[in-house]
Amino acid sequence: MNIAEIRRDFPILERQIEGKPLVYLDNAATSQTPRQVVETIEQMYYRHKANVHRGVHTISQEATDLLESTREKVRCFINAGSTDEVIFTRGTTEGINLVASSMGDRFDNGDEIIITAMEHHSNIVPWQLLGQRKRIRLRVVPVDDRGELNLQAYEDLFTENTRFVSLAHVSNVLGTVNPVAQMVEMAHRHGVPVLVDGAQAAPHLAVDVRQLDCDFYTLSSHKMYGPTGVGVLYGKRHLLQAMPPYQGGGEMIGNVTFEKTTWADLPFKFEAGTPDFVGIAAFGAAIDYVNALGIDAIAAHEHILLEEATRLLQQIPGMRIFGTAPGKGAVISFLVGNISSYDMGLLLDKLGIAVRTGHHCAQPLMARYGVQGMVRASFAVYNTLPEVQRFVEGVRRVAAMFG
Ligand SMILES: *Cc1c(COP(=O)(O)O)cnc(C)c1O
Repeated sequence: MNIAEIRRDFPILERQIEGKPLVYLDNAATSQTPRQVVETIEQMYYRHKANVHRGVHTISQEATDLLESTREKVRCFINAGSTDEVIFTRGTTEGINLVASSMGDRFDNGDEIIITAMEHHSNIVPWQLLGQRKRIRLRVVPVDDRGELNLQAYEDLFTENTRFVSLAHVSNVLGTVNPVAQMVEMAHRHGVPVLVDGAQAAPHLAVDVRQLDCDFYTLSSHKMYGPTGVGVLYGKRHLLQAMPPYQGGGEMIGNVTFEKTTWADLPFKFEAGTPDFVGIAAFGAAIDYVNALGIDAIAAHEHILLEEATRLLQQIPGMRIFGTAPGKGAVISFLVGNISSYDMGLLLDKLGIAVRTGHHCAQPLMARYGVQGMVRASFAVYNTLPEVQRFVEGVRRVAAMFG
């Protein structure tokens, strides 16, 4: 891969911050967007804007084709069996809320849901909201010091009341790639369906929902070089068919009278209202972009950056790295001495280096490690080894200021 050429697709990388070239290492929060994606948005507004699935006129047909061709691209990208199983959402958060709300309709007082200690708030709070409606108990798989889940503890959490498992594919803080296929198999042996939160996996590794055999999978476009406001919920057809709609409105109906309304077929049953067809078409361009580079080549490049950053950071006195599981993804969370993540992030910004600080939407995980927050650097395909060196040099300078 020619990284210099790739970088030219991302104009934002030419920016200066505080008079210094930007080093953007907050990719796990949102990745940057290449010209090919932005130009698709422009083309959608300038040439193809008409409401989808409604008109017989040419532009409406074009817009519908662009939306539906993205659905096919997503199907292929995650290796789903059918486009009926690919539902467009506003993002991972909405996908999880949809399942919690719709599937949760079936749950009863006393039912239990298993999540893990490394979940993002968006895979905790929707289940708690459900729990307020129905007395549902959350059971939590513990994480060890290296950032790995304890599978024996997971097995022991299953009871006759377990109704659902929801867990991250890759942790946004620790980088741990969880053994999802194995965990799904264990859940299925208890007859329990599994949702996998793939927000941090889809941009960095090949996802195969049929190989994982998961029942639901969620992802967010904006973390994988696509536009904001678009996400995907994959669900197995027989489960989606049995679930009630999440929201009501246009698009999701079969026939409406004041007495009785029937639902549209999948996937439209879960897509009430005009979808963000502009964003969805642009997300299709982002998938094309990733496919052209190759997800394995992206992962290999990010792995080199991660290894080098880890090696160099470890040389800094007082360095604590959180998440050291073998085969982890390209995020590195750390603290130096007793410097707060906030101070570190603010001072790195003065050096042009953008990192994430704070609790990373995972307060229970922060509590597990006994800290308020962490600094997180996360990599994307356009990052370089010289950027890694500038980043580590920056951390070293900030550490020396406090030393
Ligand atoms: C970012 C993230 C989410 C939430 O994604 P949104 O795009 O904000 O909906 C959920 N889970 C994980 C692991 C994440 O990294």
